[in-house]
Amino acid sequence: PGTVMLQVRVAQVAPGLLLVLAEDRTQARRLEAIRRDFVVNVSHELKTPVGALSLLAETVQDAADDPEAVRRFAGRMISESQRLSELVHEILELSRLQVAGALKDIAVVDVDAVVAESVDRARTGAAAKQMGFQVGGETGTRVFGDPTMLVQAVRNLLDNAVRYSPAGTTVGVGVRTCEGLVEIAVVDQGVGIPAEEQDRVFERFYRVDPARSRETGGTGLGLSIVKHVAADHGGDVQVWSQPGRGSTFTLRLPVAAGPVPTAAPDDRPQ
Ligand code: ADP
Repeated sequence: PGTVMLQVRVAQVAPGLLLVLAEDRTQARRLEAIRRDFVVNVSHELKTPVGALSLLAETVQDAADDPEAVRRFAGRMISESQRLSELVHEILELSRLQVAGALKDIAVVDVDAVVAESVDRARTGAAAKQMGFQVGGETGTRVFGDPTMLVQAVRNLLDNAVRYSPAGTTVGVGVRTCEGLVEIAVVDQGVGIPAEEQDRVFERFYRVDPARSRETGGTGLGLSIVKHVAADHGGDVQVWSQPGRGSTFTLRLPVAAGPVPTAAPDDRPQ
């Protein structure tokens, strides 16, 4: 009754305020639903590798007197644990990005360095499929942001390009400036994405072909992370794709003016 009285009083004093309060409540409910969905999805995703690990452990136990079988199953346990730890890492990363102000080390960032570092990290996975990267386009562009998060975003696009392309193909990385935005495009000659799925691939845990993603070790969170990183930098990510021909993912970030600050000798970590 107290609340009702208060609402009646507020309605008399400031009718607009009630509308704001109601909107706030709708927004809070929407956020709560998103959070609940996320928890359900996460639990579901964690169940698969955890189940596989426990099954493998039981098998190892039963095969104790067959060293060759033990070695084989132990190897599979290692790859399942790696998958689990990658999944946990990406879940934490995404939860962090969903909180406002997640960017930590904001600075003017050299895009060439971000691309070089991302390519470097994606190289091992690419080499395993006899794939390589061809980097080209404009050099010397700068954006304002968190270099670690930007490397993570570009790396996710490169990993996907490798994951969803046939062995032996090349992944292109192109940089250009267009209308105040630096565009980093990752171009592959892979399986492509059907038009009706292209918006959905940025949703958490959405996969066009769940069986293939499981096989290739995807977590279903990569593009969702890219989307959040882009948005936190005032940019976006776009996709162009043709099934059977390939895909191009373009990360667009506002251009930063001015030089990249270099640490003065005294500021360097000891
Ligand atoms: P995953 O970890 O499964 O790769 P992502 O969020 O990175 O998750 O991508 C979501 C889905 O989008 C993938 O499962 C895949 O179906 C599709 N996808 C992403 N990148 C590409 C690409 N370069 N080529 C074809 N399909 C892609």
